[in-house]
Amino acid sequence: MLIDLHSHSYYSDGVLSPASLVRLAHEASCDVFALTDHDTIDGQEEAMIESENIGINLITGVEISALWSNMTVHIVGLGIDPENETLKKGLLKHKELRSQRAIRMARGLSGAGINGALEKTQAIASDGMITRTHFAQMLIQEGVCKDMKSVFRRYLTGKKPGGVGAQWESYEEVIGWIHAAGGVGVIAHPLRYRMTNTKARRMISSLKDAGCDGVEVVTANSTKDEITLTSKWANELDLLVSSGSDFHGWPNQRIQIGNLQELPEPSKCVINKIING
Ligand code: AMP
Ligand code: MN
Ligand code: MN
Ligand code: MN
Repeated sequence: MLIDLHSHSYYSDGVLSPASLVRLAHEASCDVFALTDHDTIDGQEEAMIESENIGINLITGVEISALWSNMTVHIVGLGIDPENETLKKGLLKHKELRSQRAIRMARGLSGAGINGALEKTQAIASDGMITRTHFAQMLIQEGVCKDMKSVFRRYLTGKKPGGVGAQWESYEEVIGWIHAAGGVGVIAHPLRYRMTNTKARRMISSLKDAGCDGVEVVTANSTKDEITLTSKWANELDLLVSSGSDFHGWPNQRIQIGNLQELPEPSKCVINKIING
């Protein structure tokens, strides 16, 4: 089974339309696919229409920013009802937080001599929400930095000019929205946060205590050792497992939809819970 339950369209910080992503997933022979834009479900309907046209199993999805111990973590909600009012209201709040953060980020960048950052970044984000990815692409286009890695390091994290924290809702609250919408919550890319493995395991354990259902053990470029480690945590903490590429589609990123290693224990995949309840 080829399962890709993590991807982004131009409704958040990806490049492609929801329909194009669904077609790519189909071409890559994915058996199950999910579009999981950051803090928005605006692309879900378009993805659903295309999945019915071409006949691919699409699961509804969203990747929600949340705070754990004052740090941002990402919780993927799968099998959610896009009409659910609790979820919609929560996502609206995060949309507002993003607009406010973008203004503060632009102010920070202006202090570093980068003018018109908000307007230039808004033009790249078009009608979609503003994310740090858009600020990063803007700074690359302006010739300030040459790649994503250096732009995040030099401008968009910590105490750097555009490093502005956002007061996302707590992980308990976010897991509550996902459950209210009938979905399952999955901790995204557990080894990609700026924390030690010990701390990451502690974070996963807290989220499990708050009712989180699973953890993403396979992501693009996961090594065998990383998969072994995160699968072990999932087993110890009695969490389901998931796999997702986190595809965004920027030309300067090499990740492909569906190019993922097998889950060590496919029977524990979150899709079983989503499909069978
Ligand atoms: P935001 O949710 O607006 O804070 O943006 C977070 C997004 O920025 C993530 O989902 C990634 O797509 C992207 N991102 C964060 N750090 C990096 C990095 N070091 N290199 C490339 N992309 C990154
Ligand atoms: Mn992203
Ligand atoms: Mn993420
Ligand atoms: Mn993502």
